[in-house]
Amino acid sequence: MYIVGDLMKSILVEITCPTCLWHTHKPSDTVVIPEFEPDLKQQLEQEEFYAFTCPRCGTRISFFHTCIYPDKQHHFVLLMKSEKEKKAADHHLYADMSATKRYISDARDIAEKIHILEEGFDDRVIEILKLKVYIYLKKQQRYPNTLRYKDRDKQSETIWFSYTENDQEDVLALTWESYLQVKQRMPEEDTKKFHEINQRWALQHIKNFT
Ligand SMILES: [Zn+2]
Repeated sequence: MYIVGDLMKSILVEITCPTCLWHTHKPSDTVVIPEFEPDLKQQLEQEEFYAFTCPRCGTRISFFHTCIYPDKQHHFVLLMKSEKEKKAADHHLYADMSATKRYISDARDIAEKIHILEEGFDDRVIEILKLKVYIYLKKQQRYPNTLRYKDRDKQSETIWFSYTENDQEDVLALTWESYLQVKQRMPEEDTKKFHEINQRWALQHIKNFT
């Protein structure tokens, strides 16, 4: 039994369409248990969970609210929460569960985070590698809009990333060895607290891994 603090399972999100001003209250979940709620998990992975399409004019509306996602099978907990709402008491959530604990303040990061942590990878290493890929592309005067972990190819011992540039999708691989090299120098995971591991985190830490 875990204490989920003051979180209610379901809330109503007030939505006003910016285009036609259509107004509604949409029920939305603040707890998603992946093993029992595969439909909600899929919504998170397909970037549909925090999205709503206006029934009157078809405008796609994004919103965001606090939601916790404990995955006991893969030993991680995600806490979706805006920067300004993060607080010290958050670390009491699932305090007795030894797991990788991650804040996510940008809904666009959720799918990739689930993908990385379900595969059992260290997402800190992945973010450092992504930043290296980004710097590499930038040196060639290429500026990807998105850059995501794709998968690992065990046979060729490579790790793959996908990126989009001017709506064109492309892929790029690093050797699996480069993952192991960064991993070797990565401190042990702090399973007591939630940390946000994203590009900003990587920018602050990359000096330790070059
Ligand atoms: Zn509308």
